[in-house]
Amino acid sequence: MNAPLREPSFRESVDIMFNRAVRLMDLSPGLEEKIRVCNSTYTVRFGVRLRGSIHTFTGYRSVHSEHMEPVKGGIRFAPSVHQDEVEALAALMTYKCALVEVPFGGSKGGLRIDPREWEEHEMELITRRFAYELAKRDLIHPSQNVPAPDMGTGEREMAWIVDQYRRMNTTDINSAACVTGKPLNAGGIHGRVEATGRGVQYALREFFRHPDDLKAAGLDGTLDGKRVIVQGLGNVGFHAAKFLSEEDGCRIVAVIERDGAIVNPKGIPIEFLKTHIGANGGVKGFPRGTYVEDGSSVLEMECDILIPAAMEAVITIENAARVRAPLIVEAANGPVTAGADEILRAKGTVIMPDLYVNAGGVTVSYFEWVKNLSHIRFGRMQRRQEEAHSLMLVNEIERILHETGAQMNLSDAFKQEFVRGAGELELVRSGLDDTMRIAYQSMREIWHGRKDVEDLRIAAYIVSISRVAQSYRSKGL
Ligand code: NAD
Repeated sequence: MNAPLREPSFRESVDIMFNRAVRLMDLSPGLEEKIRVCNSTYTVRFGVRLRGSIHTFTGYRSVHSEHMEPVKGGIRFAPSVHQDEVEALAALMTYKCALVEVPFGGSKGGLRIDPREWEEHEMELITRRFAYELAKRDLIHPSQNVPAPDMGTGEREMAWIVDQYRRMNTTDINSAACVTGKPLNAGGIHGRVEATGRGVQYALREFFRHPDDLKAAGLDGTLDGKRVIVQGLGNVGFHAAKFLSEEDGCRIVAVIERDGAIVNPKGIPIEFLKTHIGANGGVKGFPRGTYVEDGSSVLEMECDILIPAAMEAVITIENAARVRAPLIVEAANGPVTAGADEILRAKGTVIMPDLYVNAGGVTVSYFEWVKNLSHIRFGRMQRRQEEAHSLMLVNEIERILHETGAQMNLSDAFKQEFVRGAGELELVRSGLDDTMRIAYQSMREIWHGRKDVEDLRIAAYIVSISRVAQSYRSKGL
């Protein structure tokens, strides 16, 4: 197939991928259309008095599918935010939630703003006003619509949003569940900040457990020593790069940021680079690597794994043919356009799709929402009881060893590790790991099991769309 002449928009890209999948499915045309369309998009323009005058901001909250409620999806703060983008992201949320079996519909929000242009107290006023506009229309609500962080937002903004919702709903006992990604002291959960990057690591680990899949990408062995390029050292990219380099032995040979890239074939120390970016506003001047001004040219550098973790549409029909990575891991949403996807597939590049790779965020958001509704932290009831049980077993083994005169002892390190009950962070990581493994296997079954399915992305869409369809059918649609 020839690549399209015009690059499709983000929303069109998602639809093209959706259409490729439904062509291989047996859905009635009516149901197909019902799943594809975005149910509603609310646009708000509001004014905030700042620096002596009124500034008008534009924001969106789009609801793609309410086959399950609440609907879920991040709120993005960026100057480029627009309706097409928010709708594309909301659609991806529907498919993502279905793929990792979290019981939510898909939604997304955005505010057109460059957060770097405003002071913290100004950002608070703007965020609270946006939250007010959404909450009064139930577009922020524990049982109807639950936002989370995305590009340009984090714990700080989520804390303002939950506080704003509380002020407007003083008697709602479940108010903490109106938004996820909150700081721990405002109802958050251990492991949410790292969750999306941690999910990227678990996704790659699962991929590397399947030699056939590695072979499809022309790779072999383990993650140890693999050369990785990461674009975007924000929440997702930083955690993915940190965990892959510190725990799996990957070499981060290049990091691409807004102001250029740093390249070092021996591997970049990620924490050090992050501190440098914090202090200097960019990667330029980092002493442990070579600075390349044209960051996007580094996407085309030789490596084993390319992780775009910044934004959408960075691999397009213009540069796709020159991208040399045999494996692309879509940590960002929509980094590969539909046109680029076609070019890459034709040359045998394996792409792990966004709706799978970055689902760690919404998975742990789901855990946080459950925690908020149950009003108790995970592990609180059983941790010490499990420890007591394990200790009984250790004591009994030691008693038997002693009585039989065996000249052996359990090591103190083993005993400590074995007896220690799981706290919230361990439980969250375990739940996330399980989710990423199971979701991968559900895609893989279709990818390898059906001759007409060429790639993991279409396999992922088929799994998700069938689940959404099932949900609509059981409602009688
Ligand atoms: P973030 O704002 O924390 O980080 C984005 C990073 O990308 C920043 O370091 C920024 O400087 C960099 N960047 C921006 N434009 C760039 C460019 N043109 N070239 C190179 N670098 C650039 O955002 P994030 O939360 O890490 O989100 C990144 C992507 O991951 C987005 O596509 C988002 O939708 C997706 N995502 C995020 C989460 C989450 O939990 N935060 C969950 C799922 C998906």
